Amino acid sequence: MAVLVTVVQLYKEYENTKKEFYDEIQTLPATFGKGISDSVWTYNQELLQSILQGMYNLPIVVGVKVKSLDHKIDLQVGAVFNKQHQVEYYDSKGLPTEQTLTGLGSNALFEHEFPIYYQGPAFDQNIPLGTVTLYSNDQLVFERLKYGFILILVNSIIKTFMLWIIIYFFINKYLGKPLKEFTIKIHQQDTQSPKPIDLDINWTEENELLVLKDSYNQMIERVNKKQHELLELNQELDEKVKVRTRDLELAKEKAELLAYSDPLTQLCNRRAFFDSGKQLLDQAEKQENSLSLIMIDIDNFKKLNDTYSHALGDKALTTFADTLKNNLRSADLIGRLGGEEFAVVLPNIREDEAINIAQTLRRKISQIELTHEESPVHFTASMGVTEKTAESSTIDSLLAQADKALYFSKHQGRNRVTAYSTITTWPT
Ligand code: GH3
Ligand code: MG
Ligand code: MG
Repeated sequence: MAVLVTVVQLYKEYENTKKEFYDEIQTLPATFGKGISDSVWTYNQELLQSILQGMYNLPIVVGVKVKSLDHKIDLQVGAVFNKQHQVEYYDSKGLPTEQTLTGLGSNALFEHEFPIYYQGPAFDQNIPLGTVTLYSNDQLVFERLKYGFILILVNSIIKTFMLWIIIYFFINKYLGKPLKEFTIKIHQQDTQSPKPIDLDINWTEENELLVLKDSYNQMIERVNKKQHELLELNQELDEKVKVRTRDLELAKEKAELLAYSDPLTQLCNRRAFFDSGKQLLDQAEKQENSLSLIMIDIDNFKKLNDTYSHALGDKALTTFADTLKNNLRSADLIGRLGGEEFAVVLPNIREDEAINIAQTLRRKISQIELTHEESPVHFTASMGVTEKTAESSTIDSLLAQADKALYFSKHQGRNRVTAYSTITTWPT
């Protein structure tokens, strides 16, 4: 905009100056016309020369040409056009010369021609004598314009510069600074829990920056609300996962218990007895310790069941199991192999000791008193004892030996203990 205004101003200045220039040229005939007519009328070459020289010296003139009707006193000074409209150069005496004499602005000539008349007392009317042509130059117009132009340009530059400073001041105050403050505050936000932002804009109630700030704050509030909801949801989920995990653990414990323990007596079941028994055997092998095994079978259990009820049979089984638990060490392994058949692994116990333990157990079992209606019920158990040897050191082989000894006890009349090593003659 500033450039456009400056260009228009410069153009106008040029137009005005050019007009002034032409006007000045138009006044020259009035000043010099009379002198030139007289010198032509009187053929006064010297006078004509000095007049033309005077005109030529004017700063707006670069050449003068006088053409008389009879061509007796034609004269030209400075830069003039010839008949072919080419520029020619003449000195102060009217002789052709080099270009330098014409001085500034010999190119782009333009001309102004006016007629000359004799206006003396000899005739009533004006007698045409010829023409005078004045030559000037556009460059002279520019030369005169030079300082005007410089002033206009300096003026424009200063105005534009001031305008920029003012615009910068306002843009910075009303846009730059608040935007910078906004950006810094956004950068300083805690990304975990961003807070609404306040801007130092007190000159207006409503502008785009405040609208932007409000929108940002609304967004932050929504984000915080959602984050809060998510947090609560997470905690809820956490709780649920914890409860589920606990349930699963309990179910797993229960399943393990079911898989490894007998539900009626809470003793190891057959599978658990074999697993743990193998470990105890391995350990005894490694440490070269002794280990004994007792196999126990309740006597005439079928009869007990049939006589008194299955429930009493169950009661006999649980009491029997408790008697084993209460009379053995925690290191001993007790298992229910099936029905009313049990086995015990005794680490670090030799066969003679194991026989004593079995006898104690047998006695304790025979002392169990089950209450049934009015009369108490008693039952007994038979046992087989064996010890681990180099030849027999697996659970299966030890169980087989103990089973043989147990069979022996049954055969001998029940409620007794037999050691496998003492069997010499096998009953038929
Ligand atoms: P023996 O002296 O020769 O060992 O004779 P027995 O009657 O003890 O042996 P038998 O193998 O003939 O009978 C075992 C009985 O044990 C048969 C079955 O009904 C009973 N029994 C097995 N498991 C359970 C149980 O969990 N509860 C009850 N009440 N009885 C059971
Ligand atoms: Mg039995
Ligand atoms: Mg049996």
